Amino acid sequence: MSRIYNFSAGPATLPLSVLEQAQQEMTDWHGCGMSVMEMSHRGKEFISIAEKAEADLREVMEIPDHYKVLFLQGGASSQFAMVPLNLMGKSRKADYFDTGAWSAKAIKEAARYGHVNIVASSKEQSYTTIPDPALCEYTENAAYVHYTPNETIGGLEFDTIPDTGDTPLVADMSSTILSRPVDVSRYGIIYAGAQKNIGPAGLTIVIVREDLVGLAGSNTPAMMDYAVHEKAESMYNTPPTYSWYVAGLVFEWLLKNGGLTTMAEVNERKATALYDCIDSSGGFYTNPIDKPYRSWMNVPFVMADSSLDGQFLAGAAEAGLVQLKGHRSVGGMRASIYNAMPEEGVDALIGFMQDFQVKNG
Ligand SMILES: *Cc1c(COP(=O)(O)O)cnc(C)c1O
Repeated sequence: MSRIYNFSAGPATLPLSVLEQAQQEMTDWHGCGMSVMEMSHRGKEFISIAEKAEADLREVMEIPDHYKVLFLQGGASSQFAMVPLNLMGKSRKADYFDTGAWSAKAIKEAARYGHVNIVASSKEQSYTTIPDPALCEYTENAAYVHYTPNETIGGLEFDTIPDTGDTPLVADMSSTILSRPVDVSRYGIIYAGAQKNIGPAGLTIVIVREDLVGLAGSNTPAMMDYAVHEKAESMYNTPPTYSWYVAGLVFEWLLKNGGLTTMAEVNERKATALYDCIDSSGGFYTNPIDKPYRSWMNVPFVMADSSLDGQFLAGAAEAGLVQLKGHRSVGGMRASIYNAMPEEGVDALIGFMQDFQVKNG
């Protein structure tokens, strides 16, 4: 069997040991004679898988007891609507940071439900920087403040958590959750699609402070109401059982491998090495992001001569380095280097980039 280094932004690479364990357990989970895929979500086997996954996530993220963890579907994109549907309440006002393509989508969706106030935007800088949250003026009686800690497409991230006082802070952590320790108590809601740093696509995790559950209007569809899912322990309807199970294997893998403190050290090392390669190329490769806000997870770069892009991507693929094409809205290249991308994968990419420059520079 040969494995390549997959730099996809999502669905993204998973730890090999997790895939191997899933493979071993594929047809007969723990001697019960069936695959996890075939189990009733209400049977004792799956309930034990679901409960362990939640317990392990709580441990790995140190989630306080007064937060609920929901295992939902619909992706982060559904949360763009669920957040306003559940939180906007009577004020019908919410504050949003606009720092990239995903913020913009969240804003567009929220605007269907009420007044969206953009408290800060880096749109005029083509989303290459993060506005200082300390200089923002939040709206009086805004129901919540929403931001995207890591913009997956632009490749930039906040270096601080905005201080919104008593107003609940909502974060789309799809592409940065589990990449480092985070103080969950600073947030009202954290949500994330699973396919970047958690597990397979199809699962969406929502971590919500308990006082923010049960605020949805009476015409809210049941499937969009946090209270419905919380009451049913994420089994109001059939949950994405297999994705939930594999996510659980990833949480075990994190706990076995030093947890989020270790992840943060490794992730910082990987990102630093790759940015150093870009910065020391004398302009052959460049990354457009203001340095303090460069993402640890998604590293976009362009070449001075973009006519070499095709050759770069083909050569990389031949060297076993795939999914490096930049997002269609940005062009160039993007290397997504989530938790499951080993340091050897980043080293191999750097080696290829240096070699390519020598041959084409
Ligand atoms: C990938 C991504 C999304 C979209 O996630 P879906 O699960 O496809 O809906 C939203 N926000 C961010 C920050 C992302 O990285």
